[in-house]
Amino acid sequence: MRKIVIVGAGASGVYLSVLLKQKYPQDDVIVLEQNQSPLKKLLATGNGRCNLSNQNMDQQYYDSDNLDIVQSIIQDFDMVSQMKEIGLYCLYQGHLLYPKSEQALSVKNVLMQRAQEAGVLFFYEQEVHRIECQNQYRIVTSKQTFHADIVILAMGSEAGKLSGMNESRYHILKQLQLKVIEPLPSLVQFYTSPVLKVLKGVRVKGTFSLMENDKCIHQEKGELLFTDYGVSGIAVMQLSSFYKKHHQYQLYIDFFDELSHNQLCQYLSQQSSLFLEGMLNHKIASYFQKYQDLPIQKLAFLLKHYRLDIQGIREAQYAQVMKGGLSLEDVTYDLELKRYPSMFAIGEILNVAGMCGGYNLHFALASAYRVAQAIERNVYVKNS
Ligand SMILES: Cc1cc2nc3c(=O)[nH]c(=O)nc-3n(C[C@H](O)[C@H](O)[C@H](O)COP(=O)(O)OP(=O)(O)OC[C@H]3O[C@@H](n4cnc5c(N)ncnc54)[C@H](O)[C@@H]3O)c2cc1C
Repeated sequence: MRKIVIVGAGASGVYLSVLLKQKYPQDDVIVLEQNQSPLKKLLATGNGRCNLSNQNMDQQYYDSDNLDIVQSIIQDFDMVSQMKEIGLYCLYQGHLLYPKSEQALSVKNVLMQRAQEAGVLFFYEQEVHRIECQNQYRIVTSKQTFHADIVILAMGSEAGKLSGMNESRYHILKQLQLKVIEPLPSLVQFYTSPVLKVLKGVRVKGTFSLMENDKCIHQEKGELLFTDYGVSGIAVMQLSSFYKKHHQYQLYIDFFDELSHNQLCQYLSQQSSLFLEGMLNHKIASYFQKYQDLPIQKLAFLLKHYRLDIQGIREAQYAQVMKGGLSLEDVTYDLELKRYPSMFAIGEILNVAGMCGGYNLHFALASAYRVAQAIERNVYVKNS
C-alpha cells in the first residue's frame, strides 16, 4: 500500500485523486486543501458554466517555457471521452466544450461523487507550509504532518482569489529550491488612459489591437466592455495574455472593422449630417459627436483607430490565470520533478497559461491524466 498526497483540491488535484484511487483502491490517496471546501475556482469558471476545452487545441494558445511538453500533454488527452468515463456528458457549442448541464456545479458534483465512491480522503483547512524529503516525503501543514511515497503539487495560482491570495504555494517551491518564474496576472482587464467613464457599461463589437511602438503585437476581433477603470471583455482578456511588464502598450479600437477606411469615408460622406447616432451605440455616438467638425477622412481614421494608452493590467484577484509559476525546466515530460523522484506537479502551479476558451481547464485535467499514466507505469514509485 502506497501513500499518495495531493496538495490542492482544485480541478487538477481532485481529478487526479479520482483517477488514482479508482485504479489503486488499496493505496491511500489524500488531498490536502487550505480552503474549507474543494473546487472553489472551478465553480466560477465560464461564468458558472465551465468551459472545459476547445476544439482548436494547440500549443499556440499557451504561454510556457516549454511548449513541447505542453503540446505532448494537451494532445494526449481527449476531454470528451475522459469526462464520459467519470459520468460527465459534455457537448461542443461552436469550438467551446461545456458540460451538457452548462453548470460548473455538475462538474464539481461528478468529481466529488467519484472521489467519495472511490474513497479519496480530503483534509480541509490544511495549508501546506513545507515539504521535506527524507526516506519518505513529509508534508507539513498548519495543523499536522503527513507522510507520502508520492507527492503531487496541485496548488494552482492566486488568480481570481478563490484559491487563496497567499504565497505559500510559491514558498513550498522555493524551499524545494525549484525555479519559479515570476507570476503575472493574465486573462485580465486593462487600466487605460483616458478612462472613458461616460461609456461605463457599454459593450462594443469590433477589432482591438495591442500596439507597441506602432507595431501590432496581437489583434482580437470580439467584444470590449468600457468600465470605470479602463476596459474589460473577452477580447481584452485575450490581449492581456500578450502583455509584458515594463512595456508601453496602446489599445487601438476599430469600431467599424467590417468597412475599409475608404468604405467608411464613403458611407459618412453620403450622410446629410454627421450624425453618428444611426451608426453606433447611443453613448459612443454622443461621445464622438465632439469630433463632428473633423474632415471625414480624419473622423473615419479616428473611428477605426481609436487609441487608449494602457496603464497596466489589473491585479491577480481579477485575473483568470497567472502566467509564471514552476518552470518546466524542473520537470520531465511526465511532470515528475527532476530533483525529487515520485514528486509531480500538475495544473496552474506550472508555468503554463492558456488563452480564454477552455485551454486552462484542458491543461489542468490533461496534466493530471499524464501523471496518472506515469504512476500507472509504476516506474516512478518510491518504496512501493
Ligand atoms: C473567474 C475564472 C473563470 C475561469 N474560467 C475558465 C474557463 O471557463 N475555462 C478554463 O479553461 N479556465 C478557466 N479559468 C482558469 C481555470 O479555472 C484554472 O486554470 C484551473 O481551475 C486551475 O486548476 P488547478 O487545479 O491547477 O488550480 P486551482 O483551481 O487554483 O486549485 C488549486 C487548489 O490548491 C489549493 N492550495 C494552494 N496552495 C495551497 C497550500 N499551500 N496548501 C493547501 N492547499 C493549497 C487552493 O486553495 C486551491 O483549492 C477561470 C479562472 C477564473 C478565476
